[in-house]
Amino acid sequence: MTSGVDVSNLSDGGRIPASAGLSIVVPAFNEGAGLEPLHARLCNLAATLKQRYGLTCEVVYVDDGSTDTTLSVARNLAANALDVQVVSLSRNFGKEAALMAGLDHARRGAVLFMDGDGQHAPELVEKLVGHWIDDGYDVVYTAKAHRDNESFLRRLSVRTFYSLINWGSRQKIPEDAGDFRLLSPRAAAALRQLPERNRFFKGLASWIGFRQIRVDYEPEARAHGVTTFNISRLLGLSIEGLTSFSVAPLRVASLLGLLLAFVAFLFGLSILWETVVSGKSVPGYPSLVVGLMTLGGVQLIMIGVMGEYIGKILSEIKARPIYFVAEHSVKTAETAVAKTPQTVAE
Ligand code: UDP
Ligand code: MG
Repeated sequence: MTSGVDVSNLSDGGRIPASAGLSIVVPAFNEGAGLEPLHARLCNLAATLKQRYGLTCEVVYVDDGSTDTTLSVARNLAANALDVQVVSLSRNFGKEAALMAGLDHARRGAVLFMDGDGQHAPELVEKLVGHWIDDGYDVVYTAKAHRDNESFLRRLSVRTFYSLINWGSRQKIPEDAGDFRLLSPRAAAALRQLPERNRFFKGLASWIGFRQIRVDYEPEARAHGVTTFNISRLLGLSIEGLTSFSVAPLRVASLLGLLLAFVAFLFGLSILWETVVSGKSVPGYPSLVVGLMTLGGVQLIMIGVMGEYIGKILSEIKARPIYFVAEHSVKTAETAVAKTPQTVAE
């Protein structure tokens, strides 16, 4: 057994044969209203890619336990110009799990991830594919061109998050990068090799390495409905990302401890100085209370941080599947026959 994984056979010296094709993975949670227009745009895209690069495409719609018409709409989408797979999860597992399910079911070489709400324009995909096929990049990721329309507080939180997560790490996770990205066959194979259950997709896709390139884009407005990522979900994702990618929060504990010890030492010196030089030795009640409260607070925060890591270890040890597939159908562009076996993901 080797301790690394060789995925080089999936490329031809960096030039990946376009014959490998492209799988477009679209996670969808309650996107019933927007799926048809999106599918029409993807069909056009597939026709263009076929014409320009000879690329064969498929789309994998992952219904992440939607409660609306997403599944029935997806089942009825026609396989024009590209194959259509519909993978329906047994419940809502979250976007990260839906992306994994799509990656596991993708049957073509390269994999492209895009949201099902129309915010990621299919028209940009041609440019991403160009970077892969013409320029030989393995990971083509998109990033918001600017954050002008976001509040100062949000921008500050994003900054803090990325500086913490990238602190001392070898492979920096690019700031503002989104989940809209293209992976070459070998990069997709590498991503499939990562065994962890707690997934932070953006981080993993950057961690695998290879030649990566950034493409700036302006996200479109959501085709319908509202975002499912509210403040508390974003906070959850940030904690997930931080604890799976860095031990920076634990390091903060050590640093804070050192800092406190240093301040306490200085304070001790000053008391000694006062007692010896001016002969004053007034019992300092306020300083005592403040000191105790600070220490207590810092200790509680740090126990919480450790708890996050221990919780993560627990869920990795339990090794539960990341998702269950309740229904899976494949329509090929030529035959357009559907099969619906009941499959369960390994
Ligand atoms: N999504 C999902 N499962 C979830 C939540 C979201 O598959 O539990 C999908 C959703 O359908 C969309 C994408 O993830 O295609 C991004 O979600 P959303 O638009 O709510 O987030 P935002 O664009 O604000 O980051
Ligand atoms: Mg969105």
